Amino acid sequence: MQKLQNYIGGQLVPPQSGQYLDNIDPARGAVYSLVPDSDDSDVEAAYQAATAAYPGWSSLSIQARARHLTAVADGIAARLEDLAQAESMDNGKPLALARRIDIPRAEDNFRYFAQAITQFHNESYDMGELGFNYTLRRPLGVAGLISPWNLPLYLFSWKIAPALAAGNTAVAKPSEVTPLTAYLLSEVCIEAGLPPGVLNIVHGLGPKVGEAIVSHPDIPMLSFTGSTKVGKRITEVAGPMFKKMSLEMGGKNANLVFADADFEEAVNGSVRAAFTNQGQICLCGSRVVVQRPIYEQFVAAFVEKVNSLKVGDPMEADTDVGAIVSKVQLEKDLYYIDLAKEEGGEIRTGGKRLPGPNARCAEGYFLAPTVITGLGPNCRVNQEEIFGPVASIIPFDTEEEGVAIANGTAYGLSGTIWTSDLKRAHRVAAAVESGIIWVNSWLVRDLRTPFGGVKQSGIGREGGMEALRFFTEPKNVFIKL
Ligand code: NAD
Repeated sequence: MQKLQNYIGGQLVPPQSGQYLDNIDPARGAVYSLVPDSDDSDVEAAYQAATAAYPGWSSLSIQARARHLTAVADGIAARLEDLAQAESMDNGKPLALARRIDIPRAEDNFRYFAQAITQFHNESYDMGELGFNYTLRRPLGVAGLISPWNLPLYLFSWKIAPALAAGNTAVAKPSEVTPLTAYLLSEVCIEAGLPPGVLNIVHGLGPKVGEAIVSHPDIPMLSFTGSTKVGKRITEVAGPMFKKMSLEMGGKNANLVFADADFEEAVNGSVRAAFTNQGQICLCGSRVVVQRPIYEQFVAAFVEKVNSLKVGDPMEADTDVGAIVSKVQLEKDLYYIDLAKEEGGEIRTGGKRLPGPNARCAEGYFLAPTVITGLGPNCRVNQEEIFGPVASIIPFDTEEEGVAIANGTAYGLSGTIWTSDLKRAHRVAAAVESGIIWVNSWLVRDLRTPFGGVKQSGIGREGGMEALRFFTEPKNVFIKL
């Protein structure tokens, strides 16, 4: 069985403990590779390699750094098929989705930040005869980067590319649930000639490897994407150390459908927003909030559309919904479906584990896409992040009420509005408490825009120049004339 390795100081190396964890293909429910069960000694080795590489990397010209990142992007493009297969096997997502979205977006991350760093500029402020101020923005040193399992390579590269572009070196930890694309990325970096130690990848468990990065006294900055629960833990550990932190966390996003929306577009878009990637995208619209005049008609059309989704073997081209990422996540989804029934909800479709779609996937973790109605906005199912193919539809009367429901959770990551009224679109977009909002669309991403959440969905912004600002420290210099 394949043993994945850490990537430290430009080499692929085993964990110092010699211990490994099982890596499971969720579509088959079977172990198919072994992941290093690393610990703080591996993180220390990675930190030392990153520190040794820092002076050379941070003093390279931006053009030279950009060429290195472009070479990594080219390497990803050249291995697109390998990476897509790996992502689908690790995660259970349809291969077609990984091929079309996840891996090309990971490539784009490197390509975008290779260009963005050449456009990044410092500010200056003229004070007339008194003098002037200018702001230096310099890298901080070794960045600690921690990412989740749902968009494994995309979110991992979303942190690595800007951190390196800005001149930092990095110690990065992918999710132990989906390590294979990160391992292939280390091969790509070696093939692309990335200088040793610039990027170090340490595999393993959150409480061991993640926490060793977070608590490392000499890693000054952390970029984390994952659950709000782990984000809280990270602030407890790193807050008192005054580390610079960006936390991208959970969501319970509202998909607001107004009666004046283009009905078909709203139904199709809302189903996509709820069930893409098995509902395992932080930006999924799991709360479908629908204005009452069209509520019954919408529920019927939504359920019909959900019933037409093909739950299948992720490797088959016509599969819409693949396997749930892990047994633990499947059990969590089923727990919330039971809770919905206890809270008085009606399961309109789905609501149960499905047998594997073919002999290959007989032991896989499959769940029927589930639609719930009849629950009030404040019940637990409509308040807590489930992170699976489970959508709840909630009616509302006035625009004010719709916005109040959208804002009525502890989260504030994203939102979607379906309406044909231009003024309403602007009003509601401004009123919904979230870091990003789509009007008559969903998941359209422009790498130049800031990305992040408010409330318990996050602190800090990544994406575009915001990411380069995050991964550099500003210092103001005043010059007296
Ligand atoms: P998770 O919080 O369990 O794990 C995320 C990462 O943190 C993993 O690499 C994990 O090993 C590590 N980790 C766990 N404990 C740690 C600790 N004590 N110290 C340091 N690191 C630790 O999240 P997950 O289950 O992998 O991913 C799903 C969550 O991620 C959902 O809540 C989802 O909303 C969120 N997410 C958010 C965004 C966003 O941009 N806001 C994007 C994708 C996913």
